[in-house]
Amino acid sequence: MTLLPANLPHFINGEDVAGSSGRFGDVFNPATGNVTGRVPLASKQEVEAAIASAQAAFPGWAATTPLNRARVLFKFKELLEANADDIAMAITSEHGKVLSDARGELTRGIEVVEFACGIPHLLKGEHSMNVGSGVDSYSEYSPLGVVAGITPFNFPCMVPMWMFPIALACGNTFILKPSERDPTPTLMLARLLKQAGLPDGVLNVVNGDKEAVDALLDDPRVQAVSFVGSTPIAEYIYSRGSANGKRVQALGGAKNHMVVMPDADMDQAANALLGAGYGSAGERCMAISVAVCVGDATADALIAKLKPMVQDLRIGPGHHGDPDMGPLVTCQHRDKVQGYVDLGVSEGATLVVDGRNLKVPGHDAGFYLGGCLFDHVTPEMRIYREEIFGPVLCVLRAKDFGQALALVNQHEYGNGTAIFTRDGDCARQYAHQVQVGMVGINVPIPVPMAFHSFGGWKRSLFGPLHMHGPDGVRFYTRMKTITARWPTGIRAGAEFSMPTMK
Ligand code: NAD
Repeated sequence: MTLLPANLPHFINGEDVAGSSGRFGDVFNPATGNVTGRVPLASKQEVEAAIASAQAAFPGWAATTPLNRARVLFKFKELLEANADDIAMAITSEHGKVLSDARGELTRGIEVVEFACGIPHLLKGEHSMNVGSGVDSYSEYSPLGVVAGITPFNFPCMVPMWMFPIALACGNTFILKPSERDPTPTLMLARLLKQAGLPDGVLNVVNGDKEAVDALLDDPRVQAVSFVGSTPIAEYIYSRGSANGKRVQALGGAKNHMVVMPDADMDQAANALLGAGYGSAGERCMAISVAVCVGDATADALIAKLKPMVQDLRIGPGHHGDPDMGPLVTCQHRDKVQGYVDLGVSEGATLVVDGRNLKVPGHDAGFYLGGCLFDHVTPEMRIYREEIFGPVLCVLRAKDFGQALALVNQHEYGNGTAIFTRDGDCARQYAHQVQVGMVGINVPIPVPMAFHSFGGWKRSLFGPLHMHGPDGVRFYTRMKTITARWPTGIRAGAEFSMPTMK
């Protein structure tokens, strides 16, 4: 007997709720190519029900003391750790990344929960005594109300956890619209939050596609929207959300460059490129997809080291045998990435390692693509200009540091970058002059820790505030400044001129 794939639910008002729109999407196990579940695609009415539940829960949650909100998050952290194996397994099953990588993503998410547990301290505000005689002034931070998060497939736990732990800690209620490609791990987080004592309605998960997203963007009860995904959609979310009067932060795509200087430790640089280029099959917004080698000798030395390493990548199902890299998320995405490899060849780049004919024994229908390495890529080529989001690394050659820096600065994306060198002066110049939001010096994936903020520049981020860390608290609160005079400070008579403090 063949088992039919299970229908996944939404999570609204503290309960699993079956989808009622009649529309579903398939969820795959990318390692086998099998459909493992059906995700309901919410209608506008279903989204409105989730918003109503979050709206109803808001006054009670906002009035809960920050300390008690933090206590729920402490409990949530314990539950995440206790259930880490199951969550990682669910990530691997629907995303395809290898188990150790899935565990790593969860750990980075838990770190944001740990940061959010410090919310009583983070919300302390500012106070000035005697701004005028007998007058005190202070600022305090209020939650916004119902806020929404829309997240991509590539980090089904970490990216939602960049958002909701801080939003909830600040006293907001939340609607999460995860990627329809790997919704199960996100649903697991919601259920654990309930178990940790979060009141019903404070966090709701609505599965869906554009229809659900548009309902969130247009509903006046939603005060703010956090988005992470591709640049065209980020720009759309930012424009439509802002036009509707919402606060929006929308993080988009990337093309992250690593500059390799002639004095770099070449083994260190090659290892860094291997992990940062091919880890998670290149499906990371902070993956390095371009190496800019300064000088032909540097490029030749690097390619000589990298070529056998890319050829020897161990690729297979993420659940078994601890491979280096798993499959891509869907067949459609694998074909798109493979199309870019075909394009690179026709554009005249040198394909040093061709992963297109990879076969994984016993997994013929899985969405695999071997590691691909291009040399002699030039700035006009589409494989350089566009985000590929797969295991494809492009090597460009620059004649000097200035040309390498200019190349990075001219690219439309500005998410992350790295420089590999032993020269402190050169590294310092790079860090200060590069037009990119997150910079690594001999660190290939400079993802900021939870207590700093994450975000790119240029077309990698729409909106002024980055995610988590101090910007996370700013995004999910609004400040109020109160100026108070007590009767002993009152002077007689009305004042008609602009008040100034004497
Ligand atoms: P995506 O843009 O296709 O989808 C992201 C979210 O938007 C999903 O929830 C999806 O359902 C929704 N969506 C898709 N099309 C929509 C539409 N037309 N209207 C409204 N909503 C829509 O991105 P993805 O493929 O899931 O994720 C990969 C992308 O995310 C890459 O471009 C990657 O660089 C980017 N990303 C960026 C960061 C960052 O921090 N800058 C982090 C992770 C991923």
